[in-house]
Amino acid sequence: MSVIPLSRPDISDAEIRAVTDVLRSGRLSIGPRQDRFEEMIAERSGRSHGIAVSSGTAGLHLIMLGLGIGPGDEVITTPFSFIASSNCILYVGAKPVFVDVDPQSLNMDPDKVEAAITPKTKAILAVEVFGNPMHMERYAQIAQKHEILLIEDCCEGLGGRHNGKPIGSYGRAGVFAFYPNKQITTGEGGCIVTDDDRLAEMCRSLRNQGRGAMTTAADTNSKTGERAGSWLAHERLGYNYRLSEIAAALGIAQMERLDTLLDRRREIVAEYTRRLMDWEDLMLPNSPCDDPDALESMSWFVYVVRLASRYGHVERDRVIEGMHRHEVGAANYFPCIHLQPFYRETFGYKKGDFPIAESISQRTIALPFYTQMDRTSIELVVQTLKVMLQREQLLKRD
Ligand SMILES: *Cc1c(COP(=O)(O)O)cnc(C)c1O
Repeated sequence: MSVIPLSRPDISDAEIRAVTDVLRSGRLSIGPRQDRFEEMIAERSGRSHGIAVSSGTAGLHLIMLGLGIGPGDEVITTPFSFIASSNCILYVGAKPVFVDVDPQSLNMDPDKVEAAITPKTKAILAVEVFGNPMHMERYAQIAQKHEILLIEDCCEGLGGRHNGKPIGSYGRAGVFAFYPNKQITTGEGGCIVTDDDRLAEMCRSLRNQGRGAMTTAADTNSKTGERAGSWLAHERLGYNYRLSEIAAALGIAQMERLDTLLDRRREIVAEYTRRLMDWEDLMLPNSPCDDPDALESMSWFVYVVRLASRYGHVERDRVIEGMHRHEVGAANYFPCIHLQPFYRETFGYKKGDFPIAESISQRTIALPFYTQMDRTSIELVVQTLKVMLQREQLLKRD
């Protein structure tokens, strides 16, 4: 591992204690911690239901199923994201319809979203890329006007808000994710949020092998662990997408520290910004919205800088490799989804299909970003980046 990794989970004694407590309790799945964790996520995102699942991807899959999206349906989404936001559309046999991004926020350009709507469009699946809530209100208006669904892949945006409205509260449903590089982690995990009672019930059933809604902790005898009624009654084709009590306990302990963790991430952003601000070769991550509290409203998932447009992926890749040689983490977030081998081969996408996303994706560098970074490690990242950029300018002059 690099001396300075790209990301690192923040696990305190409270998390370790919470996990060992579950192990001692003997109740390792479907218990009170799952319920509590769901409540905390729902409350934070201003929703009435949280449904904990085994990953963000699993949550997206269940939303697609629960909303009845399937073959013949089109879902408008972004090519500039983690691949799961588009794969979940394919899982149910529907068609992802990509639209290009707005170069400021890196989220979908709302005008292009509206222009892509056809009679087959069932939903807009919007991603708060890197935790940026920009345009969510516009997507919600467009969805309402055209009577289609808005689904939020808010896997990168826990705890963010725009104009006081939390990330996760814009669409019919949303999903958060808790892989170790996210703002909080459960190891692996996710949580669906929605105000739709029927959808919530359906997602609970689907994540639990298609069992009826009764098989929750409350229906389990607390002494014997036996479940009432229909543990062996499967009402529909379901999955095992449950989140264990061990993971939920970790999640609760992380949620109790969420504001501290987010504040620390903001401080690191401010520190990076201060040091990198005047570099002509570099564009810093944009503040999410026009309002002055923009920096406060974003939930910072990663810190991604962009090389100036006179650079291309060759220089960018050399900068990243150079940083790796110096044991400093860096990554090219994100390669465009439509240019991934599977998408090219299956759907015939090619370079030039979504030029803005492609141009940006060639020039991005995610820098190390985690709560335990101190001034010295930030300084080391900044100095290493500087050396690599200077080297590229020299190469250009030859
Ligand atoms: C992290 C993430 C997911 C879900 O990832 P899992 O590893 O399945 O939890 C989905 N979409 C986006 C945009 C993500 O960043």
